[in-house]
Amino acid sequence: MSEVKAPRRGPGLSGRLLFSDAPDPRMLQGVFAALFVLDLVLRHVDGAFPGVTSWPAVGFVVTLVACLASVVVPWERVPAWSVAVLPVLDLAALGLSRLDVQSTGAGILAVVPALWLGRLLGRAGAVVAVAAATFLLVVPGLAYFGLNGVTVSRSLMIVVVVAWTALAIASALERVRAGRDEAEAGRVELASALETIEHQRRVSDAILDTVDVGLVLLDHEARYQSMNRRHEDFMRLAYPDGHDGMAGQLGHVYAADGTTPLLQEEMPTLRASRGQEFDDCRIWVGDDPLTRRALSVSARSVRDEQGRFVGAALAYKDVTDFMRALQVKDEFVASVSHELRTPLTSISGYISILREREDLAPEVHSQLEVVDRNSDRLRRLVADLLHTAEADEGPMHVVRTSTDVSEIVRESIRAAAPAAKAADIDLELDAPDALAVFVDRQRMAQVVDNLLSNALKYTPGGGRVRVSLGVDGDRLDLAVADTGIGIEATDRARLFTRFFRARHAEEQSIQGVGLGLSITRSIVESHGGRIEVDSEVGCGSVFRVRIPIDVEQPAQPARAPS
Ligand code: ADP
Repeated sequence: MSEVKAPRRGPGLSGRLLFSDAPDPRMLQGVFAALFVLDLVLRHVDGAFPGVTSWPAVGFVVTLVACLASVVVPWERVPAWSVAVLPVLDLAALGLSRLDVQSTGAGILAVVPALWLGRLLGRAGAVVAVAAATFLLVVPGLAYFGLNGVTVSRSLMIVVVVAWTALAIASALERVRAGRDEAEAGRVELASALETIEHQRRVSDAILDTVDVGLVLLDHEARYQSMNRRHEDFMRLAYPDGHDGMAGQLGHVYAADGTTPLLQEEMPTLRASRGQEFDDCRIWVGDDPLTRRALSVSARSVRDEQGRFVGAALAYKDVTDFMRALQVKDEFVASVSHELRTPLTSISGYISILREREDLAPEVHSQLEVVDRNSDRLRRLVADLLHTAEADEGPMHVVRTSTDVSEIVRESIRAAAPAAKAADIDLELDAPDALAVFVDRQRMAQVVDNLLSNALKYTPGGGRVRVSLGVDGDRLDLAVADTGIGIEATDRARLFTRFFRARHAEEQSIQGVGLGLSITRSIVESHGGRIEVDSEVGCGSVFRVRIPIDVEQPAQPARAPS
């Protein structure tokens, strides 16, 4: 904390005499005595001294007594106001020195004790000075010289000058004190503000060092400005050989898969230093499989009042346990799904064989149909789970071939028709005879199936489902509209999140696990497209898929996916 410095120039002699906190009585008395003696000597240079028994001589003795007292009395131990005795004695000496018919003493010298009293006692000092001047100077003078115009005028002038001088110094001192008090109050306030800031800085440093999140502040030139202790740990893992303090330095920093090293422009610090804001950017830091950590990074820009970029703040949350748990879960889901698929295929096969037999009773056929439907559901669920596990391993792999999407849609409608009829739902199709686009056939069929089966599932009997297919500019445009239960606006934002189910679907106990739409979206996005939903509760929903169709044709005809 820097201190406020005192001005260099000193206060000067008059300042030291009158404005210092405790003016030295010896100095003031000395000054008066010197002027008194000078006046006495000069007055009698030409004429004879009136004698040791004269009033001026008595005045001189009084001055000497005052000088002696100023030297011998321990003024620092007696009450401060008692020093007033000295200027009062000086006024008495002055009054005596004036009682001389040959040459009267210089009344103007009364200014010195008047200043002294005003300095010492403030406005009360002015009253004392006027009273002392009146009774010790003016009254004896008038008594000695008699009342006439000259003596009255001089007496009056002396009283006025004494009063004026004492009041002037008293009010000047009041102002000085007030200014000093104000400055002192300001200084105290400033010191306490600085203390508060320092305290808050230490508190926030302690908090920042306590939290389990790495925090970094970058300046506008992409330099590291500060970081907390937690982040220093991450830095040691990522940069065991040291860091140069600039954003974007390459090190042991890997993408979410834990193996692909990040390119410079992918480094979170570099992205943040370019004004990008993001959340949950997952990276791994460190080389050693035992100590490396997975981090979820968020970045926000810092801007000044004019909105100019002045830096960025980054938060690094340790998500290692979460990532490892995810990995374990995905491996588990993948292996369980694989294990389930084989017996399920066998069950479905045998059900098909059984259903072809004609020697079975009709109720056995209808029971087999239920078994078949449920094993089919189970198969789709297993496929969805497998798909979800695969999606975590990286971007979905699509095999594009020239595919007639119109045909896919018609097949899907054909397959769904019995279910629609059973549920008393009108199924409409609006599609061109053929529409060839380079897409992954199997995945595209999955998109149409998912949207169509949802539309049927969430539309009550008597409703309508309409599938339209066409081309909108350079995009394939597929829309599945229904007159079903609809989706609340608050649910719409999370609709494509895994395992999310809207409130209405849950309330009406419509079966589902919440995977279909998340898979649909990842298929659409892996084709460079987008999926959107428009819905009104109680009126229905429209799911719209748009996929670019001007993608480059594969050089060789790709094999159909197995
Ligand atoms: P699932 O249908 O198995 O629950 P999805 O991922 O396909 O899972 O759908 C997620 C949620 O979106 C559903 O649970 C349902 O609440 C809502 N949803 C999907 N399609 C529709 C639709 N056509 N009408 C109303 N709600 C829908």
